[in-house]
Amino acid sequence: MNLQRDRSAWLHGPEKVCQVQPLHPAQCRRFVLLGAPGVGKGTQAALLSAAFGACHLATGDLFRRAQACDPATLSPGLRQAVTAMQAGHLVSDETVLQLLLERAACLTCQGGFILDGFPRTVAQAAALDVILGQRNTPLECAISYELDPDALAARISGRRTCPVCHGVYHLLTRPPREPDLCDICRAPLTLRADDWPEAVRVRQQAYLAATHCLRDYYADRDLLLPIDASGTPEEVFGRTITALTERAAAPDA
Ligand code: AMP
Repeated sequence: MNLQRDRSAWLHGPEKVCQVQPLHPAQCRRFVLLGAPGVGKGTQAALLSAAFGACHLATGDLFRRAQACDPATLSPGLRQAVTAMQAGHLVSDETVLQLLLERAACLTCQGGFILDGFPRTVAQAAALDVILGQRNTPLECAISYELDPDALAARISGRRTCPVCHGVYHLLTRPPREPDLCDICRAPLTLRADDWPEAVRVRQQAYLAATHCLRDYYADRDLLLPIDASGTPEEVFGRTITALTERAAAPDA
């Protein structure tokens, strides 16, 4: 069964209404995904979304959408965000939180959610706790995908994305059916502007500088679920499902 959601309200803003079949509250999953750029969070998020029906909510997709717009139509905050993103820097907490708050309905969605790329700083994590606490929609856990830096660099250089549907491919591990064309929209696949080698180096440094405390933040709250991200997407997904099942079966879960 493929339960993937349409994500309209996330991608296009709160005025759009998603087609959501509410899940039974016990089946409604709410995750944060942690991991360095290139580790495969987006791929795992898509697999988790298909398995559990929770929407894949990637903050990076919001900034890439803004990048594709006419700059004259963007707010000053979003224009600055696009400039920061193109250089591989993090966008300000203020701008990210504003976008998240505009989409707060996605966090109470009866389909659940998988946050990818957010939070990236402890300040964002603390703000998320407040937002979720007010809405009584607690996180199930923060799944942290972990891989050594050399393997990360190799993985990111083969990544290709669809500029239309944001589908993610990899030249070695997840090639499109036809070379360089998206399986779904048949649009030519691209190397994301922030996946060029120089931007990748800056992004990985920005990630490490900003997120080394995030693991501790979630570990202190007994919400951290570390996953070895080596191997194929299917292997990593299998490890994720096993770890989630074991966690749910643990006596104090
Ligand atoms: P990603 O696709 O998650 O790697 O995000 C791409 C880029 O968007 C990042 O390199 C940042 O410039 C920006 N970005 C996405 N999410 C955040 C966030 N939570 N905080 C700050 N910047 C972000």
